[in-house]
Amino acid sequence: MDPISVNRERRVIVLGTGGTIAGRASAASDNIGYTAGEVGVADLLQGIGAPPGIGLEAEQVSQVDSKDMGFAIWRTLAQRCAHWLAEPDVAGIVITHGTDTLEETAFFLQSVLAPSKPVVLTCAMRPASALAPDGPQNVRDAIVVAATPQACGVVAVCAGTVHGALEVRKVHTYRLDAFDSGDAGPLAYVEEGAVRQLRCWPAADPAARTVFDRIADAATWPRVEILASHAEARGTLVDALLEERRRGAVEPVQGIVLAATGNGTLHHALEAAALRAQAEGVAVVRATRCAEGRILPRPGQSLRDAGTLSPVKARIALMLELLVAGPAA
Ligand code: ASP
Repeated sequence: MDPISVNRERRVIVLGTGGTIAGRASAASDNIGYTAGEVGVADLLQGIGAPPGIGLEAEQVSQVDSKDMGFAIWRTLAQRCAHWLAEPDVAGIVITHGTDTLEETAFFLQSVLAPSKPVVLTCAMRPASALAPDGPQNVRDAIVVAATPQACGVVAVCAGTVHGALEVRKVHTYRLDAFDSGDAGPLAYVEEGAVRQLRCWPAADPAARTVFDRIADAATWPRVEILASHAEARGTLVDALLEERRRGAVEPVQGIVLAATGNGTLHHALEAAALRAQAEGVAVVRATRCAEGRILPRPGQSLRDAGTLSPVKARIALMLELLVAGPAA
């Protein structure tokens, strides 16, 4: 039997990063005119309580609207997660986060940690000051998942639904149930403090350590831009990025993710420019604009594809790939 669960409490660490969940408006009836990232994470835990045998500990990592998320916070967050996950009595971690870039942070953390314990991002669509805020129940559900012994990997919990880091995506601007896992479907539900698991947790992978070490060391992270293919798309933005590179820009573009139509197709003008970029040493990846499905490979494609990854996640994957590969010779 696990001596930790017998002899003393296990801990769930709650890391605060800001977001609407920590937002405050001047009127309780106002669900949209608030300032994100105002209420401290310790205050968000008031009155929520923990499952039996679980102690809660709060730590404020940042206090931002997640639309402004950036590499510096990601690095600190990954380091704080790694620190706490290494503590034997820590069952798991909850991260309170804004909804806007939650899927990016989740994917980033799974890529650099792939932890064998659960790291659970949660959020809210209404500020803490709302008449009926959704944050407290989401936090409570996230704590339940973080304390679940068989859970692992980075997941997101919102509106009683658990989504995997690879699939989770914000799909609604206002609804409380704002996230979806596309055609993969949710990973689990949290119902009255019980987790009903539907499919496997994100796999633990010790090899993620290599990526983690690189983000810790890196002075700058590779610049990867996202450009969309659409009706009347052009190659002018690609050419502008190439021109910047040729002129020795301080942060030259190293990668481009093309938000492609349908099964990874591109307007011919954008495709021609992307091939020029690839020939000049820029890493180019196609990711579908579609909310569901994956790019099915077709023979003879000169630009590689990102499979199931959305453009924002493909950007993170490419950035980390370039970081691990190091500067081109
Ligand atoms: N702009 C907010 C944020 O992402 C939205 C939210 O949390 O729902 O921090």
